[in-house]
Amino acid sequence: MYPFTLERPTNLATAAELGAAPVSEFIAGGTDMMQLLTDEIRRPEHLVALNGGVLDAHIGIERGGSLRMGAGARMSDVADHPAVRDAFPLVSQALLLSASAQVRNMATIGGNLLQRTRCVYFRDPGVAQCNKRELGSGCAAMDGDNRMHAVLGVSEHCIASHASDFAVPLVALDAAVLVRGPKGDRVIPVDDLHQMPGDTPEVETVLRRGEVITAIDIPAFAGGRRSTYLKVRDRTSFEFALVSAAVALDMEGDRIREARVAMGGVGAKPWRMRGVEQALADVRPDDDAFMAAAERASDGAAPREGNAFKLDLMRRAVFRALQTVGGNA
Ligand code: SF4
Repeated sequence: MYPFTLERPTNLATAAELGAAPVSEFIAGGTDMMQLLTDEIRRPEHLVALNGGVLDAHIGIERGGSLRMGAGARMSDVADHPAVRDAFPLVSQALLLSASAQVRNMATIGGNLLQRTRCVYFRDPGVAQCNKRELGSGCAAMDGDNRMHAVLGVSEHCIASHASDFAVPLVALDAAVLVRGPKGDRVIPVDDLHQMPGDTPEVETVLRRGEVITAIDIPAFAGGRRSTYLKVRDRTSFEFALVSAAVALDMEGDRIREARVAMGGVGAKPWRMRGVEQALADVRPDDDAFMAAAERASDGAAPREGNAFKLDLMRRAVFRALQTVGGNA
């Protein structure tokens, strides 16, 4: 492993200051970072630890009905929290379908949003062609094994998919991250947190040097209780999504007032399905309406030969998730 020092700040201000150095990286639960350090995919000179009480881990409903989750909360604690299970069951489901119980007990929710792609070429230091690791080196996935890769938001430089399950319902629910950095605090919608690869695939988020995610807020949404997270994967434990769908429906009488739909495993970032949502506005929740809306799931997709199967899978996953939550109307 590449040599590094470990800094243990006791407060956020010091952590942000230490993390602002160009050769520093943050570590919290460490479940992704340790793999990347071991394989020397990441080579920080200084690691700045955010565990040990630096990050808030409180979870609770705020005045007005929004849900606030401290970024230091463990995935398992959020998944099992009564307020999360009651107000936003799709968030709990997405977490429980992530990784393994051991990882969920260690990993923080802030770190989960910042995990790196699972592209096999990115994670194999023996592969030279990876623009995300070394800009200009090429992309081995373009004509290689791209079955798990993205079909939305890709560029000619990178087709990696975003791996977080947790981020998918957050995008659907208009969640935002609270960030603290050397220049102060700011709020970033989760939908704006991750960047498309474009010409700079090595840049994955809009976070600036030294900025730390301190909390995640989900605004009140009446449709949160009528929601589900469907994950399609090659095996039922510890596997990343081929395709996933987060769906929440707010009803008014026997019609859909507002639908929220996002997908995982298919985009360079967690992908909000605006076309699907528009097709569901003010319609009766029946199979015909769900089928017509699900057809919009693959709008704008640009598949490679190895992942073209995802387009049909996306439509089927959205349809099935809609049937699951719409069947109780
Ligand atoms: Fe690297 Fe992206 Fe290509 Fe994977 S898809 S090899 S991460 S450039």
